[in-house]
Amino acid sequence: MVGFDTRNGTGDEPACVDWLAQQLGQFNPDKLVTQRVPRKHGKPDSAYVLAVWGEPKLVLNVHIDTVPSGKGWLADPLILRREEDRVIGLGACDIKGAAACILSALTRVKPQNVAVLLSGDEEQGSEIMPEVIKAGHLDGVEAAIVCEPTGCQVGKRHRGMLALKAEFSGPGGHSSLADEIDAPLLKAARLADAIGKYGENHLDFGTPPYQGLCTNIGGVNSDGAYNVIPTSASLQFSMRPPPGDDVSKREADLHDIAAQRGANCETLVAFEPFATKDIEAFKFLFASHDFVDLPYWTEAAMVSAAGINAVVFGPGYIEQAHQPEEWVSYAQLETATKLYEAALSKGLA
Ligand SMILES: [Zn+2]
Repeated sequence: MVGFDTRNGTGDEPACVDWLAQQLGQFNPDKLVTQRVPRKHGKPDSAYVLAVWGEPKLVLNVHIDTVPSGKGWLADPLILRREEDRVIGLGACDIKGAAACILSALTRVKPQNVAVLLSGDEEQGSEIMPEVIKAGHLDGVEAAIVCEPTGCQVGKRHRGMLALKAEFSGPGGHSSLADEIDAPLLKAARLADAIGKYGENHLDFGTPPYQGLCTNIGGVNSDGAYNVIPTSASLQFSMRPPPGDDVSKREADLHDIAAQRGANCETLVAFEPFATKDIEAFKFLFASHDFVDLPYWTEAAMVSAAGINAVVFGPGYIEQAHQPEEWVSYAQLETATKLYEAALSKGLA
């Protein structure tokens, strides 16, 4: 699985999905759907495979894409290396390891009223999960385990994600004209200041561990120089609204602030926060597990927004994800496999 290059934006996610569909097909699902999905922003197609046994009330979901491999790898990141206590490879921890655990679990248990969804494009964009939901594949499903590296704890909440881009333009020119003509970069800087103040005014908003909005001014760009008035400037900024917050209201606030300053503004992503709807309903599976707050966004937010009671659970620790020499321990893989065995064989007890 690691050998398939599924680096988000450059890799071949459909090839990995086709291979996974073959693997799932060996376990005699009642329904096996493989779908290729086009993506925006010039990215190659992604895909998903859904295997269904009986009338599924529970779905197990794993994303099969990875982040780019970056610098610092001691060997080819697409060749899995086995060491005494761990496996090392791109996506081993985040989160192909979970897909391997599920395939392994399927060799030992008979799945009952359960579905397995292996899907692409989670790491940047999340364009596939909404397509799965829109196609009606999760209709009738009541509960979901979204697999991410939680260290085999159960993730019950996380923040949302809201990112915008604002653009300013002007005629540009020699800096001797700077007192007279439009200054796009100055306007972008003033907008950055206003967004920063909005964040500072909300530092006490919410309750720990999700206090504040994590307001981030991520980038300011222009085509100017110290002696050149730029013709354009762009500003990227984001916030992570806490569980329970209204993302569309935040989005409207930010658009208002940008519009007041004459910006041309577009939303890059607007992802909801996440909170498990009914923790008790999962206790039959996670009797002795800790339910924890997660520091990162997951597609559980999308599944939950579709009305499904969801938790996040998977092998490996987030500290090893998105890192060179990414690894997951055999111990974590074994613990997760046992849990997936129970989930697959019980469905929703
Ligand atoms: Zn992940």
